[in-house]
Amino acid sequence: MTKTHDSMNGNCPAARTHSPSGHPSGHSGMMEHASRTLPDGTPKCRLIAWEVTRSCNLACKHCRAEAHPEPYPGELSTAEAKALIDTFPQVGSPIIIFTGGEPTMREDVYELAAYARDRGLRCVMSPNGTRITPEVAQKIRDADFNAAQFPLTKPTPPAMTNSAA
Ligand code: SF4
Repeated sequence: MTKTHDSMNGNCPAARTHSPSGHPSGHSGMMEHASRTLPDGTPKCRLIAWEVTRSCNLACKHCRAEAHPEPYPGELSTAEAKALIDTFPQVGSPIIIFTGGEPTMREDVYELAAYARDRGLRCVMSPNGTRITPEVAQKIRDADFNAAQFPLTKPTPPAMTNSAA
């Protein structure tokens, strides 16, 4: 799956906290201390920014993904996503960043994170923050994410977005 979130190139309004760049991999509690290579000498993967969906409630005008709130056809089913998670340990013990699009637009994101955690993978949620309700916060906690990061500010429609948050 390709990276489509604008936070990857710094254009996301939530770039400082919505971006996989420059965050949990630098946390001392998340550092990889084991061998840096796989048995065949290939460097281990340390971080996967996984766009679990392209859908987003904000639909920012500048979004290079041109994300919109509606479901996109062809995205991975829950079973397909779990099968993908099963492959991650083959490339090391990477931190998995659940991003998008807006990861909370995917109803099974908590189930997928719990599945990854059960396989010993460290998981981070990187939502845009506009959908964080007490219920969503509890779901994030219950899924046992290692960390979640989101901005405390949001863009102001219609200046920055094509849709209301
Ligand atoms: S529309 Fe969503 S995914 Fe795209 S830049 Fe805005 S917050 Fe990020």
